[in-house]
Amino acid sequence: MSGDVVDRVLADLDDEQREAVIAPRGPVCILAGAGTGKTRAVTHRIAYQVLGGQVAPTHVLAVTFTTRAAGELRSRLRALGADGVQARTFHSAALRQLTYFWPRISGGARPTLLDSKLPAIRAAAASCRLAVAGAAQRDLASEVEWAKAALVEPDDYVARARAAGREPPFPLEDVQRVFAAYERVNAEREQIDFEDLLLLTAAAIENQRTIADEVHERYRHFTVDEYQDVNPLQQRLLDAWLGDRDDLCVVGDPNQTIYSFTGASPDYLRGFARRFPGASVVRLVRDYRSTNQVVALANRIEPESRLRAQAGDGPEPTYASYDDEPAEAAAVARRIAALRGEGVALREQAVLFRVNAQSEAYEAALADAGIPYLLRGGERFFDRREVREAVTRLRGAARPESETVGESLPSIVADVLTAMGYGDTPPSGAGAARDAWESLRAIIGLAEELAAVNPAANLTDFVAELAARADAQHAPPVEGVTLASLHAAKGLEWDAVFLVGLVDGTLPITHASTPEQVEEERRLLYVGITRARRHLSLSWALARAPGGRRSRKPSRFLDAVRPAPAVAERPKSVKATLPDDPTFARLREWRLRRAQDDGVAAFIVFDNKTLVAIAERAPASHAELAGVPGVGPKKLEMYADEVLAVLRGADVPSALP
Ligand code: ATP
Ligand code: MG
Repeated sequence: MSGDVVDRVLADLDDEQREAVIAPRGPVCILAGAGTGKTRAVTHRIAYQVLGGQVAPTHVLAVTFTTRAAGELRSRLRALGADGVQARTFHSAALRQLTYFWPRISGGARPTLLDSKLPAIRAAAASCRLAVAGAAQRDLASEVEWAKAALVEPDDYVARARAAGREPPFPLEDVQRVFAAYERVNAEREQIDFEDLLLLTAAAIENQRTIADEVHERYRHFTVDEYQDVNPLQQRLLDAWLGDRDDLCVVGDPNQTIYSFTGASPDYLRGFARRFPGASVVRLVRDYRSTNQVVALANRIEPESRLRAQAGDGPEPTYASYDDEPAEAAAVARRIAALRGEGVALREQAVLFRVNAQSEAYEAALADAGIPYLLRGGERFFDRREVREAVTRLRGAARPESETVGESLPSIVADVLTAMGYGDTPPSGAGAARDAWESLRAIIGLAEELAAVNPAANLTDFVAELAARADAQHAPPVEGVTLASLHAAKGLEWDAVFLVGLVDGTLPITHASTPEQVEEERRLLYVGITRARRHLSLSWALARAPGGRRSRKPSRFLDAVRPAPAVAERPKSVKATLPDDPTFARLREWRLRRAQDDGVAAFIVFDNKTLVAIAERAPASHAELAGVPGVGPKKLEMYADEVLAVLRGADVPSALP
């Protein structure tokens, strides 16, 4: 290999990363924390071997779990000059192989690959004479998916599900019957789901000598990223690919295991050195992604994490408590605008939440603020099935003659949604039924919001409000803030991260009841924190809707790290700040002169609340001033220069020349 190429591939690596890159062919395990450069190490290792002529690019298979991550691997490999390497998801690699080998597996055409399990689940439930509504069908589909990913056959389902502590919202015996019927339906219709795809590929290699020989001839060097989240089915396929070989490099972080509920397990990663006693095991501890402040918090949240920050100092993470969700979302939107004013691009900012239903408040607040956003790994609120159905039903109910007098808007809305199966208490357990309930609860929250600002609002007004929100949120964004669940954020990074809705019951989620489940919730928070390069904001709301009872508690995971609650949660009142704050006094003096000059009352310039907010936040730029509640575009244009000058300590100017 020429010296140039070696230098380039080994440049920008620290000692441990370099050790992983040059470790001899054979089993390698990189156990590394968040942001330590795992993907960098993996891609450089492949490039080092390919460019050095030790391995042929066509013999390499790199796999990961999401399409986006696979794309990331491919583009980094290309940038390093290692073209021709296959970097795929487990599914796309399997699909390619199964399609290629199908004529030898069976005479006919390859069975159809299902996008969704739902039609077959419905047919299966019907054949079992089980009536299941929309959301429940999705719960059944998830449970069947878990079973197949865990290599559980229908006959063993009840015993295995019980042992694994599964709690689907149906008797296990019913799930078993539907599962068995589901497999029959697919066989009859000659169709396969995503798990069958992996299973059939593995079985073809396991059972047919010639197929095995061809696969093992073609692929000789394997890499798996995010290996902590591999499930038994994927592991079986990986084993089939490997055959007798041991040229396998796995990369992962046990502290970021967040898919146990779908059957994934970090035990494969942890047990790697036991399975391959000669394995090189490399640990990386330097975090290149995040500042000292972000890393310090991550290490406190997850005591097993021993990250050492390399990115220098940055702002402290902020903690904020709000009265209700719309207030929290509005504050986040203002802060996003302020950061954009400071030069942090919108695509470098993300709002992360625990459950998808939480996105609505942020979709609305960002739409209100004219800030484009992209929703990752979830459907936009108003596109969700249950939300579309709810809106249709509400529209149907909003006929003038059917307006009920005397009943509150939220309870009228709740009545309509009851027909869709909405109840006061959420369904137990995780899953689609719970998600749907949360979406409907969010709609009632919107009704509570509207009733709070306009007590006379009726159902017709509410339907119009929903339509306006849906329109505002449907504007297709070009570049925007990322809204994503914590699960979908894995492996990604942004300059600014907002972790929102951090209340007990949401994180940890209510149905996380065992200590193991609570620990997985803690890891989710850890994953969220470690997505931030520099700016990190943690917030929660004490009530869902404005005027609601402020009965929620900040996430217990924050107890040890956030500032003393007495300070953090004391509502900032005008009275508390007014008397002797010198900045406020100077702002008030300026307001008085300005009001006199303009011949208006002082509160027309800025009311007290706004002036207090300006004094408290002491904005340093137009953008930050624009982020203060009560400062609209018009006021900004009229007063920004003077206010900022006063805050900088200039003499209070007169507005008149
Ligand atoms: P995660 O656990 O979140 O998936 P990771 O371990 O895969 O993280 P990467 O995404 O590969 O980490 O790297 C994190 C960031 O640090 C990236 O922006 C990467 O470019 C940068 N980085 C990694 N190693 C180095 C290094 N030696 N020098 C400078 N920057 C680095
Ligand atoms: Mg990664």
